[in-house]
Amino acid sequence: MNILIINSGSSSIKYQLLEMPSAQVICAGMIERIGSTEAISTFKSQDYKIERICEIKNHKEGLERITALLLDSDKGVLNSTKEIDAIGHRVVHGGNALTETTLINNEVKNKIKLFSSLAPLHNPANLVGIEMAEKLFNSAKQIAVFDTAFHATVPVKAKKYAIPNKFYDDEGIQAYGFHGTSHKYVSKKASEYLRNKNAKLISIHLGNGCSITAVKNGKSIDHSMGFAPSNGLVMGSRSGDIDHAIIFYMINTLGYSLDEVNELLNKKSGMLGLTGFNDLRDIESEANKGNASCILALEMNAYRIKKYIGAYIAALNGLDAIIFTAGIGENSSLMRKLVCKDMDFFNIHLDDAKNDLKSSTIREVNAIETKVKILVIPTNEELEIANQVFALLT
Ligand code: ADP
Repeated sequence: MNILIINSGSSSIKYQLLEMPSAQVICAGMIERIGSTEAISTFKSQDYKIERICEIKNHKEGLERITALLLDSDKGVLNSTKEIDAIGHRVVHGGNALTETTLINNEVKNKIKLFSSLAPLHNPANLVGIEMAEKLFNSAKQIAVFDTAFHATVPVKAKKYAIPNKFYDDEGIQAYGFHGTSHKYVSKKASEYLRNKNAKLISIHLGNGCSITAVKNGKSIDHSMGFAPSNGLVMGSRSGDIDHAIIFYMINTLGYSLDEVNELLNKKSGMLGLTGFNDLRDIESEANKGNASCILALEMNAYRIKKYIGAYIAALNGLDAIIFTAGIGENSSLMRKLVCKDMDFFNIHLDDAKNDLKSSTIREVNAIETKVKILVIPTNEELEIANQVFALLT
């Protein structure tokens, strides 16, 4: 079965074509900077790598470009769009109605639209991707996989905010949790690795967006991101946890507009706001040169993660393993070191030599004698989506 995975973001579309169940990647690529005259389109198959800079006005043109690359008579991988059996769409917000991987119909599309108010940067772009794919690949089954779905198992005591009940009951205001596809994939891998499907796990996804999830018996029981993907850890450009009184102070006393504060907290805060750099590699290199704000930002980032680990050990009443994943979690030995430092009370002991080794497969970086495993697990959201699509259709 050929499954095309489409991850349609606000200004990018990532795609990957997989043969299932072998999980062989036939081709993969990305269109970045959609809406600009200098959009970047990449395509990589076993035989070819193509990168082009051209004008791509909108998502419609982006998906047309991807289709043309797949069908290219010289370097493409398909003779006809009919060779695609199914398309798996990553959809960020499924609200409290779409909590499982679902075949897309008009009702599902209407709900994704309805939940656009909860994820205004993501759901509209996801919907455009779905509607275009329906036109371009009209014989393929279209399936939605939701980022929020894995967290549908979080108990009410953990997901409800302490505000009047009507907001939870009537308005759907609750913590939804995100990065579910990644947390599900790596926690499943960890359970397999530990040969324990009832393992108590803390999954730490550190990419541009960062989140942490407590997993028990394969199910998410708590998550750091809340109503929107803005709560919790310090992220690339998002503040994470913040006292809401600061928002009112900025508006009422400092004279910022609502839109300005929204932009400030989502796009100008986090590591970018603290250091002037977004990319952790730059921050680490500046810290090495003695840049005080970069050193402090790294410490703040790690401190926040440590606090969540402590909270989730309490929620889980124990811990078998912590998992580091995504761009920073998989690659930054420094961030892992800062997080695991002085955590011996919890039986968390890092082995520095193992931590410094590079590898693209699952690995253990804890000291050999410790009870709690520290695992580095490369995430693969595309494969997880393909697995779920394949499972739904077979
Ligand atoms: P996204 O959330 O966009 O999928 P990624 O999971 O790709 O993000 O992670 C992006 C982050 O990973 C960036 O902040 C980048 O600096 C960081 N990163 C990637 N490689 C390294 C590395 N070798 N060392 C430190 N940080 C890294």
